[in-house]
Amino acid sequence: MTTLPQSVRIREVGPRDGFQNEPEIIPTADKVRLVDQLARTGLERLEATSFVRPDVIPQLADGPEVLSRIDVPDDVSVSVLIPNERGLDNALALRDRFQEINVFLSASETHNARNVNRTVEESLAGLERVLGRAREAGLRCEGVISTSFGCPYEGHVAPDRVFAIARRLAGAGAQEIGFGDTTGMANPVQVRAFFEDARIALGRDVELTAHFHNTRGQGLANVLAAMESGCDSFESSFGELGGCPVPAGATGNIATEDLVSMLEEMGIETGVALPALLDCARAVREVLGRPLGSHTLVAGPVDWHEA
Ligand code: ZN
Repeated sequence: MTTLPQSVRIREVGPRDGFQNEPEIIPTADKVRLVDQLARTGLERLEATSFVRPDVIPQLADGPEVLSRIDVPDDVSVSVLIPNERGLDNALALRDRFQEINVFLSASETHNARNVNRTVEESLAGLERVLGRAREAGLRCEGVISTSFGCPYEGHVAPDRVFAIARRLAGAGAQEIGFGDTTGMANPVQVRAFFEDARIALGRDVELTAHFHNTRGQGLANVLAAMESGCDSFESSFGELGGCPVPAGATGNIATEDLVSMLEEMGIETGVALPALLDCARAVREVLGRPLGSHTLVAGPVDWHEA
């Protein structure tokens, strides 16, 4: 019989992964309000924005302003995405506004080239410098590896290749490695084997985090498979934001409210108050003015009854 974790950690990534993939630019005041609301649901980890170049991702060009204006309780750890050393310099000007950074690259050469126009080795060399400097600044660091479970251009990605990249990031100072199923290619059998092997390859000292996308509706099945192999840290997005809204069907991250609903029904603690989280998802639906992929947002909690 498999032992599941008693509790899991959830990092909400909607304000970064989600907002950056919206075709429209969300007003700064709405972003600040939504982050503040999310920070009062019991979520203890929150990716607030990124420090990418404004001309590359105009949706997050107001990152410094969002970070300056949010009002987040002390027990919430705020994370920002850092693409390179210049991004780190810009973020460090607001050093007291966040506790964690995350850096990213893809496991597959083609995806990495299309995403950041570098080879994997070039990315790693740059990120090693970022991680070293971030640790010196007292920041907690996560390294996220996109296309860990498959690449839309190359197909299968060998887990050993992913683990080798993870070891480089951990060696450079990342205390946490996030494995991204960027285009929703993972299946539960693959995920179960992956996290078993990842723990062996990376040892006990590195936190292993799963970042699943629900592109093919397999996100929550993959969560269960990951937990069966000891993974107890997940990233998700309120409202199922993220991915790309066009073409139709290219859905985003697993929805945080679907994740919390499933886990709480299974008796696994998340620390998140589902009604408060659903209020956040409703609020972002209002801002975006379109239906969202989240199932629990539509159906309500399991014990919900219409008055
Ligand atoms: Zn994502």
